[in-house]
This record gives sequence, C-alpha cells and structure tokens, in this order.
Amino acid sequence: MAKTQAQDTSSITRLDQTKISQYFGCNTFGERTMRERLQKDIYKAYRQAQKRGEPLSPEVAKSVALAMKEWALEQGCTHFTHWFLPMTGATAEKHDAFITWDEEPGQVIERFSGGQLTQGEPDASSFPSGGLRATFEARGYTAWDPASPAFIMEGPLGKTLCIPTAFIGYHGEALDHKVPLLRSMDVVAVQAKAALKHFGVNAESVVAQCGPEQEYFAVDLELAQQRPDLMFANRTLQGAKPPKGQELEDHYFGSIKARVLGFMQEVELECFKLGIPAKTRHNEVAPNQFEIAPIYEAANLASDHNQLLMEILKSVGERHGLAILLHEKPFAGVNGSGKHVNWSIATNEGQNLLEPGQTPEENLQFLYFLSATLKAIHTHGGLLRASIAFAGNDHRLGANEAPPAIMSAFLGAQLSHILEAIEKGDAADASTQQILNLGIGNLPRIEKDATDRNRTSPFAFTGNKFEFRAVGSSQPIGLPLTVINAAVAEALEGLNASLDAELKAGKEHKAAVMAVVRKAIIETKAIRFEGNGYSDEWKVEAERRGLPHAKDTVAALHIWEEPAVKALFSKSGILSEGELESRLHIRHEQYQKAIAIETQVLREMAETQILPSITADLGARAASLCQLATAGISVPDSLKAALQAQATLAGEAQTRLAAMKAALVAAELLEDNQARTEAFGNQVNQSKHALREVLDGLEEGCDADLWPLPKYWQLLSPLV
Ligand code: ADP
Ligand code: MG
Repeated sequence: MAKTQAQDTSSITRLDQTKISQYFGCNTFGERTMRERLQKDIYKAYRQAQKRGEPLSPEVAKSVALAMKEWALEQGCTHFTHWFLPMTGATAEKHDAFITWDEEPGQVIERFSGGQLTQGEPDASSFPSGGLRATFEARGYTAWDPASPAFIMEGPLGKTLCIPTAFIGYHGEALDHKVPLLRSMDVVAVQAKAALKHFGVNAESVVAQCGPEQEYFAVDLELAQQRPDLMFANRTLQGAKPPKGQELEDHYFGSIKARVLGFMQEVELECFKLGIPAKTRHNEVAPNQFEIAPIYEAANLASDHNQLLMEILKSVGERHGLAILLHEKPFAGVNGSGKHVNWSIATNEGQNLLEPGQTPEENLQFLYFLSATLKAIHTHGGLLRASIAFAGNDHRLGANEAPPAIMSAFLGAQLSHILEAIEKGDAADASTQQILNLGIGNLPRIEKDATDRNRTSPFAFTGNKFEFRAVGSSQPIGLPLTVINAAVAEALEGLNASLDAELKAGKEHKAAVMAVVRKAIIETKAIRFEGNGYSDEWKVEAERRGLPHAKDTVAALHIWEEPAVKALFSKSGILSEGELESRLHIRHEQYQKAIAIETQVLREMAETQILPSITADLGARAASLCQLATAGISVPDSLKAALQAQATLAGEAQTRLAAMKAALVAAELLEDNQARTEAFGNQVNQSKHALREVLDGLEEGCDADLWPLPKYWQLLSPLV
C-alpha cells in the first residue's frame, strides 16, 4: 500500500514552514486517508454504514482496523485508546500499547483487531452514570463513532492513536454527551427534511451545524501554582480588587503580546494537525482574556473538536508556562468567560436553512425555519436555560457581562419589522404580490453588522445562524446543542402537521405556509426582545410576559423534571426517562461537588495561609510600634487603631470561617438530594461569600511581603 501521508507530521513545528492546507488534518485518519488506503469495496461499505448510521460488519471493521493500524504505526504511534466524553464533562481515555506476544517466546508484535477498533470495555464503574448503572453491573462499553475521524495525540516520547467513541451502558443506555447529540441530529434532520419536501426540496440529509467561540484566561503558571484555589477550583476564591481592573477596557482586540501569540500559534498548529479548523484569535475584554473560534462544522464534530481544543489549550499552555483558565468566572469583578454556540441547519448540499433566500418562495422557506426556531425557544426556553445551568455559570449569567438567565431571542430591526408586518397582514391571501408587499419577497441578505450588535441577548439571530451566548466557557457543548436540536425538531414537527392540515383544508400552498408562519409568529411574540437584556426593566417586562426566569442552578435544576421536558426527550427517543433522570442526578451531584471543593479549598487557604500570615503581620507591626515607643517616639493612635482594626477583622474572619465549616457539614449531612443542592446553593455559598469579603479586606491591610498569595494585579498583569 502506498504511503500517502508524505508529510512527517512531527517535523512540523512552526506554522510558517508550510501552508496550512498542506498539513491540515495530517494527524487524523480522515476521509481522504481512508479513501486512499482502503480497498474500494471496503471504503464503500464503510461510507454506507456511516451514512446510514449502522455498525460496520466484522469484515469491514477488520480491514479498516488493519489500515488504521498501519497508518498509525507509520506515524510513530505506540499506543491506541478509545476516546470518549463521559458525563463528567472532561474527556476520558485508557491507553493500550499495540503489542501482543508473538509465537516466538519473549517476542512481541504489533496487533490491532477489528474488535479493538469498534468496541472497548473500560471499567465504567468509576464514571458517573447518575444511577443508570449500579456499580455491580459496571460494564459499559465504548463503540467507535465513524462520523468522527480517529486522530493522533502526540506525547513527549511517542504518539497515541485516539478513536472517538460513544460510551454506552450494557443495555444500550447513553452514558455520555455524544450519543444524545447524535440522536438529536437525526431527529432534527428527519423533521427538517419533511419540512423541505413542502418547499419542493428533496434533501438527502440535513445537518445541524455549530461554530463555538471559546473564551479563556491565560495567567502565569508559576503564579497560578501558588494559588490552591486556581489549582483545585479553577477560579480565585479570594482576591482584593486590583488598582487597575478592566476599567480602561484597553485589552479588547488589542495587539496580542508575543508570549501569548507564541502560545496561540502552537495551539493552532496542534488544531490544524488534528483537523480542527481554528480560524479566529483575539484579545477579549478583560485583561489576559482571549478567544479562539473555529470555522463551523457538523454539530457532533464541533462538539468533539471543542472538547479537544479545551485539552489542547491547557496542555500547550503548560508548555508555555501559562495556566489556561476555562472557568466562567476566574476573577471577581472582572468579566467572565463564555462560549458562544453558533447554530444553524443546512442540507448536505450546503443550503443553510436559516439563510434568507433570493426569491419569494425561498424566503417563505426561510421564514418557516425561523418560526420553528422561535417556537423552539418559546416552548423550551426554560430547558435551554437549564442546559447551561451549573455552578460556574451562576457567577456570570445576569451579572451585566453576560446574557441574563431569561431566555429571549433577538432578531434585529429588519426581521422584527417583517414579522410585525406578517402579524398584521392577512395571511389568507398570500399571493406573490402580497408577499412582495410585506417585504418578504425581496429580503436583502441580512448584514451581519445590522444584527450582531445586541450582545445582551442570550439567543441572537446573526444573519444566517443563531448565536446561543449564554453557554459557559468550560462547558461541553453537547448538551446545549442536543436541546436546541430537540426543541427545533419538535417545533418543526408541529409546524409540519399544521401545514398538512391547512393544505388538506384546501388552502393554496403559499397561503397555507403563511398561515402557519403567522400563527407561530403570534404565538412566540413573548420571547422576542430587542432591548437591553442587562437592564432591570427587562426583568420586570419578562415577568409580565410570563417568561421563565430561573435565576441560578438551584432553580434551573427543577426544569428537568417538567412534563414538557420529559415528553420532548422521550417522545423523540433522544433520552429515555431513565437517561434524563440520570443526567439530572449528575447535575445535582456536580453542583454540590463544585461548591464543596470550593469550600474546602477556601477553608485551607484561610486557615493555613491567610490567617497565619495576618497574625505574623500584626505581630511584626506591633513589635515595630513597641520599638518606636522604646526609642521614645510617640506612636500615633491612628497607627494603633489601624492594627486594632486589622486584628478585629481577623477575628471576624475566624468567626466566619467557623460558620462556613458548619454550613458545609450541615449540607453534607442532608440525605435528600434536592435539599442538599439547596443547602449548598444557599447556606454554604453565602457563608463562603461572607468569609471572602473579610479576607479581601484583610488583604488590603496586610504587608504585601507577608501576603501568602499572588494578588489579582499580578495575575492580571500583561504576559510578557
Ligand atoms: P462573531 O460572532 O464574533 O462576530 P462570526 O459571526 O464571524 O463572529 O462567527 C462566529 C462563529 O460562528 C464562528 O465559529 C463561525 O464559524 C460560526 N458560524 C458562522 N456561520 C455559521 C453557521 N451558518 N452555522 C453555525 N455556525 C456558524
Ligand atoms: Mg459571536
């Protein structure tokens, strides 16, 4: 077999040596490599299985495995692993060397079978299953997802072949974020194809697409390592405001400093080799905050790639002496990080169904899909909110830096105007002339600038896609995407049924479509909002409109139990009741754990670092005052009072520390899951906050040389 990857991937260490297009995807066993390396009939069988979403036959799997092994060994791989996305939110891998004993004693050979490619059996008992799988039936297995190409991870002393897999329980239950996402993509494709038939389009397939913009902070690794909170809780749990924060807002889109640029370039190099289409890099609003955004892809690939990207950011960061913080709110008083999840659906021929068209007919179709999306947000805004609810995102949503926790959609003046006209117009007579009169027939391409300015909206239409802006920066995007797909599929199903009914009743096609669209526009009016989402008036107005407003995770977790949510998932087959329940269980558990960890870390810092330093500082300063007095220098009362104030504050810290410890113990004793979550969200969180307040005050009054932790201004200083 010809060696097709002429490029030795390990030699590419600088972006400027070679054109990106020449090595893009060179570390993946992608479509092109497969076509070149597989026999024609095997490749065809593989493609067909992939298209139909069916498992590979053992013979095909065997041939693919052989080709994949040869390719991987040529690239210098020593190990392989099934790579999956358990519900922890991180990625999981267990590496095996390719070796097995040869017939000759003591001699090994490289082997990799079809079975090893298609199925693995990690000890699943240690991954959260939310009660889906009791530990005694720990068997879960990983199954190759041929929709996502195998890829190579480079290590310091060799490479590992990673096979993207779905993680499934013994009875077929989804134990990961990937399986529900793939199911939701199928479900929305079925409904979208049915809708398209009404417009005379026979699409072979329809794909949900996503481009996730990833924000992050970079701080000096050596400094970060001196802060237990950054190491264990991924955010600072204490820290007095720096003298200069982001007040000047001089960081956004500023020139990228060389040290950071070097890091970004290596991240991009890794991305390109793995076929991740990293496109945009820039400085963000807060000091040391940055963004990387890829070109959009099919939602499942975008999800895998975002997961990989987060790993790459962290590991390349370490090589550059940087700690990459993906947490939603690493620093109090400084903007947090999100992940804008851009979403659209398109036919396999590339027709974006959310793109306004050229003709009245095309625009009717566009309005149909737009109405379906509005309907989805209107019906399932609460669930959309619940899909992004977790401890980290609570610090960000609704805090005047990120969209509020109320889900609404922004369409821009032009589209809003058209929807209003449709609402007022008489849909019964949807002649081409009327469509033209309404301004729909000749919809201009919507300028991005005309729509992209409302940063306060959680779900904004930006020309030919929706941008879900409330997703957290550390969060896997699988679940939010699953929810969008599921909700839009349900909405399309409803619209399709109404359209069928209108046609059956004898309405002419255009009039029937207009009637359905108009009804949806009227029904969903409440979620359209063009104003300032950060304002207090909006909160009042949203309440008047009856929109759900789950302020925090504790409130949002209830949404998972609503009948409409259960019905959405179970009717479509995206998540059975058991699978849904397990996810709710895990969300409770993860929320409680996140806050418990923060509490323990803050206790450790307060008790073993901060308070001892404060006492030492007070002692030293008191001794100095004594020396002054001994030398006959009168010590002003104000100096003594300052020390006394600091001592009193330290006493207050001690009291609040004890209260926090008690709150943690009390929460952990609660048996009922809901009650525990509430105790963590209320009493424990409040006690942490109360302690932090005085610790920040102590920092402001402490000798900087004795303060045991790097300060905000150090962490947020330009990285040079
Ligand atoms: P910004 O929102 O920062 O102005 P862009 O709108 O250019 O930037 O793109 C942001 C992200 O949206 C990119 O990741 C891009 O690939 C993605 N994107 C663009 N078009 C689509 C689409 N049709 N569907 C999904 N994502 C898209
Ligand atoms: Mg954007």
